[in-house]
Amino acid sequence: MSLPTGKNLARPRFGHSQDVFQLHEVIEFSLFLGGKRLLFLALNEIRHALLRRGGRLEVSDRFWGGAGRDKVDDLQVNRARRAHLVFRIQRRLEAVRILGIESSCDETAAAVVEDGSVILSSVVASQISTHARYGGVVPELASREHLRTIVPVVRLALEQSSTRLEDLGAIAVTQGPGLVGSLLVGITYAKALALVRRLPMIAVNHIEGHIHAVVSQNPVELPALALVVSGGHTHLYEVRENFVYRLLGKTRDDAAGEAFDKVAKLLGFSYPGGPVIDMLAPHGDPHAVPFTLAKMKGNTLDFSFSGLKTAVLRWSEARDLSAEVAARRELLRRNSHPSVAEWLAVTPRETLDTLASFQHTVIRELLRRAVKAAEEIGARSLVISGGVACNAGLRIAAAATRLPYPIFFPTPGLSTDNAAMIAAAAFPKFARGEFADSTLRAQANLALA
Ligand code: ADP
Ligand code: MG
Repeated sequence: MSLPTGKNLARPRFGHSQDVFQLHEVIEFSLFLGGKRLLFLALNEIRHALLRRGGRLEVSDRFWGGAGRDKVDDLQVNRARRAHLVFRIQRRLEAVRILGIESSCDETAAAVVEDGSVILSSVVASQISTHARYGGVVPELASREHLRTIVPVVRLALEQSSTRLEDLGAIAVTQGPGLVGSLLVGITYAKALALVRRLPMIAVNHIEGHIHAVVSQNPVELPALALVVSGGHTHLYEVRENFVYRLLGKTRDDAAGEAFDKVAKLLGFSYPGGPVIDMLAPHGDPHAVPFTLAKMKGNTLDFSFSGLKTAVLRWSEARDLSAEVAARRELLRRNSHPSVAEWLAVTPRETLDTLASFQHTVIRELLRRAVKAAEEIGARSLVISGGVACNAGLRIAAAATRLPYPIFFPTPGLSTDNAAMIAAAAFPKFARGEFADSTLRAQANLALA
């Protein structure tokens, strides 16, 4: 490859109209020009080129802070590396492919996403069958499974998207929240790959991933209200321009998905509980059991589902359900994926009514607080994401609410844990030059806001 001159590079290519020039590219451009003195020249050249086209140059304090300006002197590069950097600068201004890696809980996932929204591949290896017999995720088993599957999963994601490692612009990985042993597998793998391939690495919050599963695929207008509702979370966030988040409310005890899982386990249904309850709820009367939720003091946008779970427990204790529960467990022993008809054959009407009423109560509660929060912040869209967003009853109820703004759900494949949402969430960070380094650590309780 012939080496373009600094001038060639600086003029038309750096003039991407609406782009804010990206910091790491400034750094790389300066590397190409060879050092600190020229960095300032380069910055001015880029600034002018962008100004002419209505763009602007942002150099954050983060760039100057920490490492210090003198650091630039240390960045001496040889000719081959320069050529490579030039090549990468050119490519970045065209399309950026990010490899996403997700291993926060019980799914090992990898995906390649172009420019933050075009999903070229999304591979998810679920561990449901490993954990199903325990009725919940066993952390030690989860880490072991991640270790076993991460290499083939990443390889498949690259293969299915016809992407070579050298085509990548960055590697994005879930930093948290999640199980620390599970997160570590993804993070360590991403670090190794980034190091060996000299690729930038981007740390993504899993919850932000769930929000981007929707935002990246739909015309979501900001500010938006995001309800993230899964096995681990029931959180309400305000999403402002530039993806700035504010936590408005959250569950004080169980997450909604966790309540689905616990109720299903209690009544002898399969794990995870959400899909099976969702499937059977239309066969019961949602108004048969008047479950009420405890009134809470404090933040009116907080949720609580443990009382509802206890109410289902009390309901079941008041009856002798041992025969039907045993019949369902027996059915599961014979067949890990029973059909609706097979479940119905071992589930009396009264239990179906309870499932329907339980689901109805959860949905009412989720929508009530989400709509209230959306009103409070003057939201222009409502985003509902996370595993529970798969729920058909929730989608129907959401569609029936007449709101002055649209409600967006993820596609089923993007509802539960996946890596496409991680790669999508990484894209704005890539554009802002927010990269992680080798000190990146897993954070089990990482907060989004
Ligand atoms: P997490 O990462 O918090 O474990 P996921 O985003 O993978 O969660 O979602 C898993 C959760 O979603 C489980 O609790 C599961 O029961 C729930 N879930 C999945 N599908 C449905 C559904 N159709 N209805 C209700 N809950 C569901
Ligand atoms: Mg999740």
